[in-house]
Amino acid sequence: MNKNKKLRNFYISMVVLFAVVVTISTAVLTFAIINRCEKYMLSNTSALVSADATQLTLNINSHLDGIEGNVALMFADDEFTEYDSANSGLDEYDKIKIESSIASRIVDLGALENYSDFCVVYSNDNTVGWKSKTTQSLYSKGGIYDDMCSYISDENKQSGWKFGVKDNFDRMYYVKRYNQNAVIIASFYTRELERTFEYPEELRGMTVRLVDDIGNTVYSSNTEEIGSKIPEDQIEYINNENELSVITESSIINTGRCKNGWTVMCIVSRDDMMKEFNSLRNFAFTVSAIVLVIVLSIIVTLLRRLSKPMDGYVEDLSEKATIDDLSGTLNRRAYEEIATKQLAEHKDKNYAFIMLDIDFFKSINDTLGHDCGDEIISRMGKLLSNHFIESEEIKPIIGRIGGDEFTVFISLNNENSENSVTDLMQKLLESFLTEFAKERETIPLSLSGGVAFYNEELSSYQKLYMAADSALYKSKENGKNQFTVYKGEDSNE
Ligand code: GH3
Ligand code: MG
Repeated sequence: MNKNKKLRNFYISMVVLFAVVVTISTAVLTFAIINRCEKYMLSNTSALVSADATQLTLNINSHLDGIEGNVALMFADDEFTEYDSANSGLDEYDKIKIESSIASRIVDLGALENYSDFCVVYSNDNTVGWKSKTTQSLYSKGGIYDDMCSYISDENKQSGWKFGVKDNFDRMYYVKRYNQNAVIIASFYTRELERTFEYPEELRGMTVRLVDDIGNTVYSSNTEEIGSKIPEDQIEYINNENELSVITESSIINTGRCKNGWTVMCIVSRDDMMKEFNSLRNFAFTVSAIVLVIVLSIIVTLLRRLSKPMDGYVEDLSEKATIDDLSGTLNRRAYEEIATKQLAEHKDKNYAFIMLDIDFFKSINDTLGHDCGDEIISRMGKLLSNHFIESEEIKPIIGRIGGDEFTVFISLNNENSENSVTDLMQKLLESFLTEFAKERETIPLSLSGGVAFYNEELSSYQKLYMAADSALYKSKENGKNQFTVYKGEDSNE
């Protein structure tokens, strides 16, 4: 019972240990994989966003190139570039003629279809070419020339780009100096930039925008943003010489620098990106949980299977600890333990304590060999078991307590009185002679016994043992091949 309990505790602790180890390993592994996936996904997304920013920068540069190219065509004719409308010395007729030639050139360039404004502005604010009503109203009080000159930011090229002229966020202007007293302006609707907003990776939740040098959103995939300032915490990402690739707490940001110094920004919110990742993570957790359950079930089943032969092994061990190998009866320690327990639990019963010793056994060893002696001990064990088990009701406890010494402890009830014990003893001695008839041809083997009955005087194992041993001694003394019942120290029969 105790051993079974120990075994069960061992089994449970093994299962718990395995479960803990497997659970921790699976959890660590799952978190490591997810963490790696997250990093991989972030860097991968960043690379895609970066590719978008690069592509968009190229698109916008090419768009700006187209406009600059159109304006450059106005420089082909020296007569046009040298003309100054503010020069009061010129003939009025010549002025009208050349201005109408300049205007026709602008019409020839197709500017009316492609631009909101395309005109030459002179220092007296006179304009030649196509000027929109919006631009006219923005400068209804004059000052257009000076204002446009102030937008020239590239000293080498003598040109510049401007968005948000007088807080008008509909259009953007390109200004290029035409001569000392004139500039060419070309403007177009910022919504036309939509055509340039083409990029290879359409990422969910990505905002793509073009931002001018002071943080105004020139155009955005989120059209509500157009004309408004970008968030304060993103200002640091514009006006950088090089492309930026930043992963912040909340977003993945990649930038590109356009030829006019403006910035392309591609921003993916990490929350949006994580929505997809979260479903991947949930999937990973589910798979891990299933794997965990399967592995734990396998471990539990395996341990159960393993514990079965172990049960048998323990039974073997406990049997080894109580049984005498040679005779198959109880060994001395087990015999004493069981007989003592029997005495302690049922004090009201009567018992017989029998001690037996083979006569001339040593001669067997000496004459026929030790192996033959062993065989006789083994057969003696079987003889005793068969002899006493025939009388099942007496519940005999049989043991071997020494070399050729055996003991039998019998519980007596009304039916099996002391007489029946002496009958059993008599028959045993006869059976012994029959069993070993062959050996007796060489050596006069026989059996001697001593019997002690439980009573007030002989009320303990030790006392019964001593009494039976003393009776056995008498049998030996009296010539062997007999048994003696203990009747007191001086009056043995
Ligand atoms: P007695 O008639 O007075 O009983 O003398 P005995 O020859 O039977 O010898 P005794 O009982 O005094 O001693 C028993 C001998 O049994 C002593 C030992 O050599 C032998 N013996 C003890 N254990 C074993 C064993 O396991 N196998 C064998 N073959 N012999 C044993
Ligand atoms: Mg002997």
